[in-house]
Amino acid sequence: MSTYYKSTRNTDLKVTASFAILQGLSEEGGLFVPDKIPPLNKELQEYADMTYKEVAFDIMRDYLSDFTDEELWECINGAYDEKFDTREIAPIMEADGAFFLELYHGKTIAFKDMALSILPYLMKMAAKKQNEDKEIVILTATSGDTGKAAMSGFADVEGTKIVVFYPKSGVSPLQEKQMTTQKGNNIKVIGIKGNFDEAQSGVKAMFKDKTLAAKMAQAKMRFSSANSINIGRLVPQIVYYVYAYSRLLKAEVIEDGDMINITVPTGNFGNILAAYYAKSMGLPVHKLICASNSNKVLFDFFETHIYDTDREFYVTSSPSMDILISSNLERLIFKITGESQEKTVALMEDLAKKGKFEIDEDMKEGLSDFFGGYATEEDTRNVICRIFNKDRYLIDPHTAVAAHVYEIYCDETGDTIPTIIASTASPYKFTEAVAASIGIETKDVEDMELAEILQEKSGAVIPNAVEEIRNAPIIHDTVCDVSKMSEELEKFLGI
Ligand SMILES: *Cc1c(COP(=O)(O)O)cnc(C)c1O
Repeated sequence: MSTYYKSTRNTDLKVTASFAILQGLSEEGGLFVPDKIPPLNKELQEYADMTYKEVAFDIMRDYLSDFTDEELWECINGAYDEKFDTREIAPIMEADGAFFLELYHGKTIAFKDMALSILPYLMKMAAKKQNEDKEIVILTATSGDTGKAAMSGFADVEGTKIVVFYPKSGVSPLQEKQMTTQKGNNIKVIGIKGNFDEAQSGVKAMFKDKTLAAKMAQAKMRFSSANSINIGRLVPQIVYYVYAYSRLLKAEVIEDGDMINITVPTGNFGNILAAYYAKSMGLPVHKLICASNSNKVLFDFFETHIYDTDREFYVTSSPSMDILISSNLERLIFKITGESQEKTVALMEDLAKKGKFEIDEDMKEGLSDFFGGYATEEDTRNVICRIFNKDRYLIDPHTAVAAHVYEIYCDETGDTIPTIIASTASPYKFTEAVAASIGIETKDVEDMELAEILQEKSGAVIPNAVEEIRNAPIIHDTVCDVSKMSEELEKFLGI
């Protein structure tokens, strides 16, 4: 059984996985989706005896049908190696009555590493399979974590260049330093005077810009995307939900077939969409709990069935979720329209033109897999403090948003089935916010010093990623207006 891909805005399309990975976004602006979701091909119990890599191979193989087994193994072996500081790749910690799936043991200490350590391998392989003779320019907008994880994956990868746009005042100090110190002769990092949505819209506009594409083609270059709209990001993210289930089975927390819930701190709707795909494949998942910060456009959507971006934008302590236009939601919308291209296009046009859309009665049913909630800044601080005091377990502000919404879920529903919380970043990536939450004085204290105080107080070891950038020189200092993004790109590419 082979999986092909169509677009949410062109259902007649039928392309291979390697084509979709290379292209990133479909030509007419839609997102690639599998023509059918492959069912899990093993008994759940069988996954309990498999390693992370083995689960990755089993799941990804069904989505990446035009990759041979050898090719896929090459990608998996290249990705999930000593770059991760634990052989388990994604360990689970029990705290406060939930199971925290730690997705931050990769190089840049955030969950983006789970997919971005394999994407460069998939992309290179896809280029080979598609006989691509042009240089691939990875164009990326980041809310803080994608940028670094993508650059660290693509640094000095032959035949590629990577350009990252980030909101200059919308990322944590460590996130910014991680990016501006990134080495590699194929890399450009640009801060923009705007927020993530503006960075993302600017990048999408460049993807669609025909004049730019022609100039690129002349210089033998083409764009691709490392953002979570790329199925090469989405597919590797399905793996860890199946893996998490299998570890709970192995630990006898659950029995074969038992339901679990999955709580995900959500921004661009990529990570939770992967959990939805895992459920659609047959993983026994009861509720997908979608946690937002103060930018609660998704919570309101689940409540009112109106997605409305016309609202105040907040810069929060969980910056990677400071997003009002959740790109991957389009894939869910497409699904709940009954895979209707017409309906999806109409709703996305509303979003583009009026900044909002409303789904119809028939579609509401499709949202019943989800529970939405949000956490304020105060909620976020309180839950970090509470879990630390109770279990000596430190979580970052993104994970804290999820932990808080899980509390709300339990209060409202009384549900007690085992729940996975996607823990998306190391507390050391957001040292100041975490330290302040547990009562450490942070005023006038350097981030690095703060990390040491936090280590002493919590016993949680400072990851290498933090040590590494301590004395790293700043290499990138370009800042531009939103309107100048394209100009800066062309300057870098020399076109
Ligand atoms: C990107 C990110 C998120 C949000 O993930 P989406 O796939 O965009 O919903 C949450 N937490 C952290 C730490 C992130 O880097």
